Amino acid sequence: MRIFSGIQPTGRKHLGNFIGAIEQYVALQDRGEAIYCIVDLHATTVPYEPAVLRERLYDTAAILLAAGLDAERCIFFRQGDVPEHTELTWLLSSVTAFGDLNRMHQFKDKAGAQRDLVSASLFTYPTLMAADVLAYRAQQVPVGDDQRQHIELMRDIAERFNARFAAEAAGAAAPLVVPEGVYREVGARIMDLQEPTKKMSTTGGTEQGTVLVLDEPKTIEKKFKRAVTDSGSEIRHDRAEKPGVANLIEILAAVRDTSFAAVEADFADARYGDFKVAVAEAVIERLTPVQERYAELRPDEAALEAILAAGAEKARTIAADTVADVRQLMGVGPNP
Ligand code: ATP
Ligand code: MG
Repeated sequence: MRIFSGIQPTGRKHLGNFIGAIEQYVALQDRGEAIYCIVDLHATTVPYEPAVLRERLYDTAAILLAAGLDAERCIFFRQGDVPEHTELTWLLSSVTAFGDLNRMHQFKDKAGAQRDLVSASLFTYPTLMAADVLAYRAQQVPVGDDQRQHIELMRDIAERFNARFAAEAAGAAAPLVVPEGVYREVGARIMDLQEPTKKMSTTGGTEQGTVLVLDEPKTIEKKFKRAVTDSGSEIRHDRAEKPGVANLIEILAAVRDTSFAAVEADFADARYGDFKVAVAEAVIERLTPVQERYAELRPDEAALEAILAAGAEKARTIAADTVADVRQLMGVGPNP
């Protein structure tokens, strides 16, 4: 089984990314052929500074390795190093419906937040994301809950491509694989601690409500202590009535790898204040070893580059094979 996922080198990685995506990446390394990518091309769709992008790229690479990605057990690379992603994006654009792109929530949210240019690439972003996954013929895509709509779109793109061009597979060229999203049962959508009806996010969330993977323990504790709850006193998982408390339960359940019910039972008689401290402590305990490992890995940019370059070489072999098939089926270039 082939697994693929990508993560942006924008902003700084937060607890939502860590629980919803990164922990899944690490776990899935041993369940199939896992391919993970830092998507620098996606990061160019909103305003950014080139020099900062490179810094964040290394930050993100070091966080992923510190969290347990192992270049011996997965293919780990930078999107921009494999030009097949952009070529496939163009080819798949012909089977991407304009109307579908126009319905994407993420485009609406991110376009609404721009003061100057709303780039065309922000609009076509989901086709690049489809190309990322389809280039590897991946069956499973571990992501957070916010990516459901993009996953549906990439499935539609693969199905439309296959129906249009690969119905009677021509020669040696193979059709695309229709992938499935893999979402954690607990922790697929971590909310902002200050605005618990919005997802935790570096681009759209509040600063105090976003816990960063690299935050100091004291900062983490402060953010949890100030987390918004409600005027009640019951520690109960009810997203509609008690979104703040439900989010804290979700975080603790994910970090402890247990159920909501187990957390509720443990804190049946606790006060909100004590519960928040317990959640903070669990998160700090989970993140401290990652931060320590990060501090060792981050300074050696040459070593990070070497890992990414070796990964790109492996990735490229797979992606080039898919692109050759897609070109052949679409009648682009000479008949091989
Ligand atoms: P941006 O707001 O710039 O899109 P992001 O925080 O969503 O940034 P990404 O790199 O786009 O970060 O997402 C990486 C992975 O983390 C994706 O699989 C995404 O679904 C997941 N993810 C993002 N936010 C959350 C969240 N709050 N809870 C759980 N998973 C999340
Ligand atoms: Mg995102």
